[in-house]
Amino acid sequence: MPNISTPATPTAAALVRSDIAALSGYVPGEQPQGGKWIKLNTNENPYPPSPAVARAIVATTAGRTLAKYPDPLATVFRMRAAEVLGVSPDWILCGNGSDDLLTILVRTFVGAGEWLRIPYPSYILYRTLAGIQGAHCDECHYNADWSLDDRFGAASTTAGDPIKLAIIANPNSPSGTLLPPVRVAALANRLACAVVVDEAYGDFADANCLDLVRQNPRVIVTRSFSKSYALAGLRFGFAVAQPHVIAELQKVKDSYNCDTLSIAAATAAIDDQAWLADNRARIIATRRRLTDAMRSLGYHAQESQANFVWCTHPERPHKPIYEALKAQGILIRFMHYAGWGDGLRITVGTDEEIDAFLACIKTI
Ligand SMILES: *Cc1c(COP(=O)(O)O)cnc(C)c1O
Repeated sequence: MPNISTPATPTAAALVRSDIAALSGYVPGEQPQGGKWIKLNTNENPYPPSPAVARAIVATTAGRTLAKYPDPLATVFRMRAAEVLGVSPDWILCGNGSDDLLTILVRTFVGAGEWLRIPYPSYILYRTLAGIQGAHCDECHYNADWSLDDRFGAASTTAGDPIKLAIIANPNSPSGTLLPPVRVAALANRLACAVVVDEAYGDFADANCLDLVRQNPRVIVTRSFSKSYALAGLRFGFAVAQPHVIAELQKVKDSYNCDTLSIAAATAAIDDQAWLADNRARIIATRRRLTDAMRSLGYHAQESQANFVWCTHPERPHKPIYEALKAQGILIRFMHYAGWGDGLRITVGTDEEIDAFLACIKTI
C-alpha cells in the first residue's frame, strides 16, 4: 500500500545525470553462490594459484601491517614485475584489477563528448566506461576472420572528430584471436592517439605487444592477475607504458587503489614464473583438446590464443544449448552481440570439467 500522506518519492533515474539514467550498465557473467556448478563462463583459471600467494597473505596479516595504509604505488610489486618484464619500475602502474586500469585510462584520455575507438565485438566494458565518461564510441567491426581493417587506424571518425583513445583486447574476447604485434604496430602508427592493448589473456598467447611500448610512446599494455595467475578474487592488474604516460595516469588513480594484501599476493605470484609456465602449458593442452572435440561435434571452434574457445554451430541455435547445459549444472557463456550475431564462449576448465562438459553437450 503506498503511503498517501507523504509526497511521491522521485525515482533515482530522475535524480541522476540523464546519460547515467540512460546507460544500461555492464553486466558481468553469472557468479552463482553455492551449489555444485561447473563454471566455464567467466574465464577464471580452474586451478589454485601458486602456494606462495597464501604464504604472502598470511605474512602480511602479522603485526601492524594492515593497520597502515598501503603503499600508493605498490613499489615492491613494481620492482619485481620490472625484472620479470625487462623494463624499469617507473614503466608500471598497478590497479585494482585491470578493469581499474581501463577506467583510469578512459578518464585520462577521453573527455566528455570525445571519441573512443574500439573493435566490435569485444569486451563490453569499454563501451560502458565511455558512457560513464559522457564520451562516444566509434566501433569498428572485425572482419569474418577476426582481422581489423585499416579503418581502425584512422585518426578521426568519418565525421572528422578526432579519436582520443583506441583500445584493442589482444587476444580478443569472445573470439580468443590475436592480432599479430606487427599489425597492432601498424594500426597504432596510423592513429594519432594513445592506444591501449588489453592483454588480460596475454600470458596464454604466442606473442604480446610489450615491445611496442618501448618503440611507441603512445602504446600502453594492460595485464591482469585474474586469468593466468588464478587470482580473479584478489583484484590486481598493471599497466606498462613509458614513464611520462605513467606519471599522467598516476594523477587520475585513487590514492590507495591497491590494498596491502593484494600487493603482497601479486608480488608472490609474479615471482613464481615456474608456476605460470606450468599452468599455461596445462591450459593450452586442454584448450587444444576442447577445440578439437567441439569440431568433431560439428561446431565451428575458433583457434584460440586465450583460455576460452569461441564456438558457433552452422545450423543449431546457440541459446538452447547454453540453457540445456545450465539445466545440467554446467555454465558456459551465451553471447549475443546486437547487429552482429551470437555464439558460445567456453572457458578452458580442468580436464575433468571439460570431460563432463563434452559428455553433456554430446547428448544435447
Ligand atoms: C577479464 C578481462 C579483464 C578484466 O580483468 P580484471 O583484472 O579481472 O579486472 C579485462 N579485459 C578483458 C578483455 C577481460 O576479459
